[in-house]
Amino acid sequence: MAEFALIEEIRRRCSVPRADVLLGIGDDAALLLPRSGNELAVSMDSLVAGVHFPHTADAFDIGWKALAVNLSDLAAMGAEPAWATLALTLPAIDTEWLAGFCDGFAALARAHGVALVGGDTTRGPLTITLTVHGFVPAGQALRRDGARVGDCILVSGVTGEAAAGLGCLLAHALLCEPDETDRAHLLERLNRPIPRVALGIALRGLARAAIDVSDGLRQDLGHIAARSGLAATIRTNCLPPSVVLSRVGDAAQRLRWQLTGGDDYELCCAVPPDRVPDAQVAAAALGIALTVIGHFDAGSGVRVVDASGNTVELPRGGWEHFSA
Ligand code: ADP
Ligand code: MG
Repeated sequence: MAEFALIEEIRRRCSVPRADVLLGIGDDAALLLPRSGNELAVSMDSLVAGVHFPHTADAFDIGWKALAVNLSDLAAMGAEPAWATLALTLPAIDTEWLAGFCDGFAALARAHGVALVGGDTTRGPLTITLTVHGFVPAGQALRRDGARVGDCILVSGVTGEAAAGLGCLLAHALLCEPDETDRAHLLERLNRPIPRVALGIALRGLARAAIDVSDGLRQDLGHIAARSGLAATIRTNCLPPSVVLSRVGDAAQRLRWQLTGGDDYELCCAVPPDRVPDAQVAAAALGIALTVIGHFDAGSGVRVVDASGNTVELPRGGWEHFSA
């Protein structure tokens, strides 16, 4: 298969029709129709083999996750996904791998009505770079800088399970070997994250700030705190519990996964106390738990405290590419 047959295969397998795509894959540029009264949210994320996923990862999972992590960024802005472009760097053309990759990508693209409108294909170490575009009504985006003193900190779903999933793949990372069902659950959380797109949209007008949790809850919450010029406090006893985590790790390891593990793709947001019930009802309507885990104060940084208010020391952590 040559480059152009490969592009045709991607086009065929990933097609999602949209009325606002005037011209998609096949010309020198795509022609797209922006939505009036909306802002265009644009985000890009790369996945590099051996850094973001093991070289042995399943092609379907790579395709799924590449889109999921990008849609998660749009979710955190409260944007509705519309279009994607894909820069694919492959060591060689492997038709079976490509079919799996496209099927994983397309499964999530169809679920969210995302049209792949173009890209670029090159030879080199396996790297997937996606740009996603979405719409948000003017002035309604959920930014990182909108939290205020007294706002509650909420997190969707459960954090830490993807990190424990990674632990399943590394020798001696788990205190207790999980049974088949737990192992499958943890690996699913690692390999097939569900971007919280509908939740992000539902939080428009309720949350004052939001971020998606990709590099660890404590570190990502720190970005809201810094951009909003505030201090954040997390209460460990308020963190959403996971029965699966409680079976594979002790309390200390659980806390590390929940607060510093990466790859959760949950949303963390700032909501004024009087809007918390509305936000939780809106999340519940989507079948998603939205848990109050702390609050914002004047100051800076992120403090983690236990039920008695004592500071809990955690190892430095949270994913950073260029840290020593
Ligand atoms: P050009 O040389 O003009 O940049 P290309 O040969 O790179 O054109 O691409 C031809 C068409 O295929 C373009 O519409 C481009 O957007 C699309 N395309 C190339 N690679 C990909 C890819 N990996 N995924 C989706 N579309 C792609
Ligand atoms: Mg090109």
